[in-house]
Amino acid sequence: MSTSNTDLYSLLLFVAAAISLVLLAVAWRRRDVAPTARPVALFALAMLVWDLTYALHWTEAYRPQPYFWLDATYLGVAVAPTAFFVFVLVYTNRAHWLNRRGRILLAAIPALTVLMIFTDHYHGLFYGGKRLNATDLIFDGGIWFWGNALYSYGLMLVSFWFLLQTFLRSPAVYRGQSGMVFFGVLLPWVLNIFYMTGTRPLPNLDLTPVVFTVTGVAVGLSIYHFRLLDLVPIARDILVDGMNDGVLVLDVHYRVIDINAAAMAILKLGSKPPIGATIQGVFSGWEDIVDDLNPEAKLIREFSLDEDQEPYFCLEIISIDDHNQKLNGWLVLLKDITLQKSVELQLRESNALLQEQLEEINVLKEELHDQAMRDVLTGLFNRRYLISTLERELERARRAQSVVSLVMVDIDHFKKFNDTYGHQAGDLMLRNLSEMLRTHARKGDIVSRYGGEEFLVVLPEASLDTAVIRARQWRNGVRELVVQGDQFQLTTTISVGVACFPEHGDMVETLIQAADEALYAAKSAGRDCVVSYSGSLVS
Ligand code: GH3
Ligand code: MG
Ligand code: MG
Repeated sequence: MSTSNTDLYSLLLFVAAAISLVLLAVAWRRRDVAPTARPVALFALAMLVWDLTYALHWTEAYRPQPYFWLDATYLGVAVAPTAFFVFVLVYTNRAHWLNRRGRILLAAIPALTVLMIFTDHYHGLFYGGKRLNATDLIFDGGIWFWGNALYSYGLMLVSFWFLLQTFLRSPAVYRGQSGMVFFGVLLPWVLNIFYMTGTRPLPNLDLTPVVFTVTGVAVGLSIYHFRLLDLVPIARDILVDGMNDGVLVLDVHYRVIDINAAAMAILKLGSKPPIGATIQGVFSGWEDIVDDLNPEAKLIREFSLDEDQEPYFCLEIISIDDHNQKLNGWLVLLKDITLQKSVELQLRESNALLQEQLEEINVLKEELHDQAMRDVLTGLFNRRYLISTLERELERARRAQSVVSLVMVDIDHFKKFNDTYGHQAGDLMLRNLSEMLRTHARKGDIVSRYGGEEFLVVLPEASLDTAVIRARQWRNGVRELVVQGDQFQLTTTISVGVACFPEHGDMVETLIQAADEALYAAKSAGRDCVVSYSGSLVS
């Protein structure tokens, strides 16, 4: 049988077998990375068997019977279309067809075919008894021959259809891969057309295994060369279209290459993806962003489509670089952050409210503090405040070896205002006199209402003489004071007692007592006068 032709045939087929072996190895190594790798490996194995057995058929190799190797090709021939079909199912996202029933159905016919061939001499269902008369090629046979042919061509036809759909549906960026796979399945059909029309470059040689091997290489290349997202273009659909976040892919001229359903919804673009349109026409906010795009850094912006109105979105733009760091385009992600924003807003509002309340509390606290140290009627410091302040003043004077004077004032015959004109007249007098004392006080003086109609003024660093002079001024001032009521006009006088630290006492109590005694002396002296303490020092 050895002619130059048969040598060429076997060589060609051995080369195809070697290629199938490489493909098998490549696919097998990627079996856990690419979902399509396992069916491709099965296809490569089928092609390896087909190529090898057919190659051996053209050699002088031993055979128990003349058609042994040719029959053996069917171990590959029967499996190859099924394996390819399984690959197409996975590739076009129909892996769910491969459930238990699907697998059994798919495996049944190849298994039956192999069985039929090797038992043909009992029933002739495959070769139909025509084997012996035929040449090496069988173009005719028994019923199962045609059954298998129909099944195989049918699978390849369906594969072709599924791949064509995927190819047409793939966004431009993914066409490279689906195109290569599509080319792979197209090839056997082209060959078949040539074959049917009688264009047979190599007489008697069925080129199908060689061409199928090329198909395998095309498919294998697509697994090997393209990255994860490209492995199964439909996976991109599941992943990207299933996302709640909007995804847009732009080329370097900001034209939309790919857009997912979420992005279409967010940008209110209807149902037709604006592939090829410039992003400016799709998203008006782009103008404000484009100048800040930087291939080196991710750009993050918040925006809303209607001037500062819900919903709010966060925009992230990342550059897409190729292997040589050359800018290829941009990936735009749109995330709805309305909820996050509203929580943020609520937080800010409640924070502002809290701040407001805090300020209110502070004001109230100050007021309370003020109220605690002031007399309600006159607004002067109260007795409690005076005593604590006086203690501090004495301490300071003690350290500085300085003096402090105390002036105790009592209104003369005050009772008569109450008695004659009522309590309110007394109050009015108290307020007016307080006002007078306050306006005549100097910085550092502490004017307080000590009791009913008694006032105590502390004059830090004032000597007895100075205090007496100032007390006289007050007494003279009060003489001039005219308090105008609705139905009355009041005038009055005051009696004043003056005492000085340290000479009249070095403690708060003794000093007050000294001033009080001086006041008592002033009352005794006939009122409307100023008397300084002259008693013995009580300590
Ligand atoms: P003297 O010249 O001896 O000081 O006589 P006086 O009447 O001023 O003194 P006395 O102590 O007898 O009377 C003081 C009166 O002041 C008694 C009290 O009813 C009245 N008084 C005390 N606090 C108030 C007040 O807040 N408002 C009014 N309207 N009267 C008050
Ligand atoms: Mg009085
Ligand atoms: Mg009194």
